[in-house]
Amino acid sequence: MTPTKHIGRKMGCPICKPPPAKAKIYVKERLFLITRCGKCKVPMVVVHSHKREEDFTKKELQEVIDRCSYVASVAYPNYHFTIDRKTQHWPDHMHWHIRQAEHVDGDMEEME
Ligand SMILES: [Zn+2]
Ligand SMILES: [Zn+2]
Repeated sequence: MTPTKHIGRKMGCPICKPPPAKAKIYVKERLFLITRCGKCKVPMVVVHSHKREEDFTKKELQEVIDRCSYVASVAYPNYHFTIDRKTQHWPDHMHWHIRQAEHVDGDMEEME
């Protein structure tokens, strides 16, 4: 059996494993991919290696943010979005949620 290369991955970490084949993938890049969070049902950025946000350079993080904007425009047309940078599910592996914010014309809900 040939050992699989797991550079920068951590055994037992649920998001170090590649996402299941049927998972929705919005974007796949060298450093990260944007899939759909199975718990929150929103697009989620997951970096390919077991790293924290502070392990990436500003330029790398900017690349992630740029791709988030693209995915948000696909997932939430007509809505603003926020990038939720809390690592809420797995504390030491960077993952960001892309959440819907208010409607582009201002109000979030019709108030009567
Ligand atoms: Zn991990
Ligand atoms: Zn989630």
